[in-house]
Amino acid sequence: MIPLQKFANMLNIALFGPPGAGKGTQAKKMVEKYNLVHLSTGDMIRKEIAEETELGKMAAGIIKRGELLSDEFVVKLIENSMAQHKGAEGFLFDGFPRTVAQAEILDRMLEKEGTPLNGLICIHVPFEELKRRMLQRAKVEGRADDNEEAIEKRFREYNDKTIHVANHYKRKGVHIDVEGNCPVDEVFASIVKAIEKM
Ligand code: AMP
Repeated sequence: MIPLQKFANMLNIALFGPPGAGKGTQAKKMVEKYNLVHLSTGDMIRKEIAEETELGKMAAGIIKRGELLSDEFVVKLIENSMAQHKGAEGFLFDGFPRTVAQAEILDRMLEKEGTPLNGLICIHVPFEELKRRMLQRAKVEGRADDNEEAIEKRFREYNDKTIHVANHYKRKGVHIDVEGNCPVDEVFASIVKAIEKM
């Protein structure tokens, strides 16, 4: 059994921002510096699709269209991954929560473990720059959902459903804004500064 003290010392952070804000890039650096377990729902889903599991088959079309998967589906993925990492020093949630319902479920899951979400780090980048980055990534990575139509849909999903997650954590007083329209290392320095204050 993990001593309760250990849970109280955990560092749990969610990286938040629209598609193309640089969450994945910053997540890699944060995981390395703070020894966090990286929980990216997007990565988990892409793995299910690549392995052609039942979940993957259900998700493939939805992801390709740029729509959000059901809360139930992604919560299951997160729950399973957290259970596999009992005793972690902390979790870095990347691309989750993406709806207020997911945020409420996450809060309850962490509460049950006796540890809070220490911060929601929101990366801000102007829309035109986001679009430019996404189209560039489409050329380099060839992700199924990096076509122009899916990109538009992902921005709409973000504005309709995801943006409200920021307000949920603003009300809880753990929301932190970070400027993301600058070099990777500068964004990372701002994130480190924010974490040191948590
Ligand atoms: P990402 O790699 O985080 O940009 O996620 C890629 C795609 O996976 C999204 O456009 C959604 O279709 C799906 N996805 C990832 N995370 C979530 C989530 N928390 N809730 C619903 N769908 C998600």
